[in-house]
Parts: sequence; structure tokens; C-alpha cells
Amino acid sequence: RGGYDATFRVWRGDASSGELQTFTVPVNEGEVVLDVIHRLQATQAGDLAVRWNCKAGKCGSCSAEVNGRPRLMCLTRMNTFAEDETVTVTPLRTFPVIRDLVTDVSYNYEKAAQVPAFTPRPRDPDGNHRMQQVDVDRPQEFRKCIECWLCQDTCHVIRDHEENKAAFAGPRFLIRLAELDMHPLDVVDRRDAAQQEFGLGYCNITKCCSEVCPEGIHLTDNGIIPLKERVVDRRYDPLTWLGSKIRRH
Ligand code: SF4
Repeated sequence: RGGYDATFRVWRGDASSGELQTFTVPVNEGEVVLDVIHRLQATQAGDLAVRWNCKAGKCGSCSAEVNGRPRLMCLTRMNTFAEDETVTVTPLRTFPVIRDLVTDVSYNYEKAAQVPAFTPRPRDPDGNHRMQQVDVDRPQEFRKCIECWLCQDTCHVIRDHEENKAAFAGPRFLIRLAELDMHPLDVVDRRDAAQQEFGLGYCNITKCCSEVCPEGIHLTDNGIIPLKERVVDRRYDPLTWLGSKIRRH
């Protein structure tokens, strides 16, 4: 379809206050939401704050909520909306707003710094590290993470519960723990830390995080549930039991 004028509502404001502003803005064939945001910046809202970088779904910068759903703006095509549909763009709700569509995501970097680092076993006598490909394949899925924080944004444990942030690291860091736990060379046991410091028990496997991941990572099925199963011998957790039952049937 050709060009048309779309109605966009964009949240404008800062940490103290803000509101949705309505714009009528031209849209061309093949464009994504980020193109339209850039056009607004270029024509009607020169001071609109937005984070972006690669425009190819690989840097994880242009995360926002489009019609209330956590999305990368560069991967959200305009042809998924009707021409007469109002497109509402708001900042990630789980993190404090700095200005307009830019949020303060430092919570994530604080949690990242707390993850016990990768610690490989000693090299073989000939100086090599040897791994079976089959053992590498499982953690490899989690390496696709671009740290867009959409899973962190959607997770109900912290989305409307600031008070849970201290005790809960969020899905991105639970799969980081799972990745290290599955790594064939790593020797650190992070199971107690997963439960006690990173709040694994707060996750009740609603799978919302897997639904929003732009990399298609199966956070719950392949990362968080296996991690829960690994800690279950340390501590009885009925949700893990339920999760494994659901998966088997
Ligand atoms: Fe984004 Fe997926 Fe990584 Fe979560 S797991 S930060 S949704 S790429």
C-alpha cells in the first residue's frame, strides 16, 4: 500500500510528569514504527528523546511499548496496524523515565554485575579446552540475547512492583545463570545464588518473557524451568514440580 497519514500518540515528559501528545504524521510503504518516530523528530518534535542504534533488531536499543506491548520499534512494521488505527508509543514501564521514550535501565546493569563470572575448569594438558558440540548447543541459545530488556519490562514480578527489584533479577539474568549453569567448562555452582540472591522462586512460569523476546529465546522452557529443576534438590519448590508436570503432558 502507498503512503498515508497516521495518528501517533507519543508519551512526552520526564521523571516528574508527562502526557501523551497526538501527531498526524505521513507513513510510507515498508516503514517501521522507528521510521515514523524519526520523522516526528525531523519535522514536528525536534527534541523528542529516543534511544536507537542499529535499526536492524540487533542492538536492543529502541525498546518501547507500542499500543501497550513491549516491542523493538525497528522491528514493528507499520503494516501491522490499520491505516485508521492510532499508534501509541510509550516508554518501558518497568524502568524510571529519563525523558520521553528514554528510560533508566541501570537496574539491569546492577543485576548483571552481581552474576558470578564464567569460571572455566583448567585446560587439558595440551593447552586446549575441549567441549562436545551437543553440550555447547544448549547454552548457545541464550547467547543470542541482545539485552533489549523487553523480557525485564514485561515480567509481572517487577513490572508494577518496584519493591521486588532488590530480590529479583528478572528473566534476562535467570537465563544468564542458566547459560552458565549449562556451560560444559564452567565449574561454579550458582544454584544457591539463583534462589537466594537472584529470586528464582519469584518466577511462576507465566512465560510472558518468552512471548516478547525478539530473538525467539525460549526463556522459560529452555532456561528458567531447567534451572528450577536443578535447584529443586536443594529446596522444595511446588511451582517447579507443577512446571515439569505441565511440560510432560
Ligand atoms: Fe531481549 Fe530476549 Fe534478551 Fe530478554 S532474553 S533481553 S527479550 S533478547
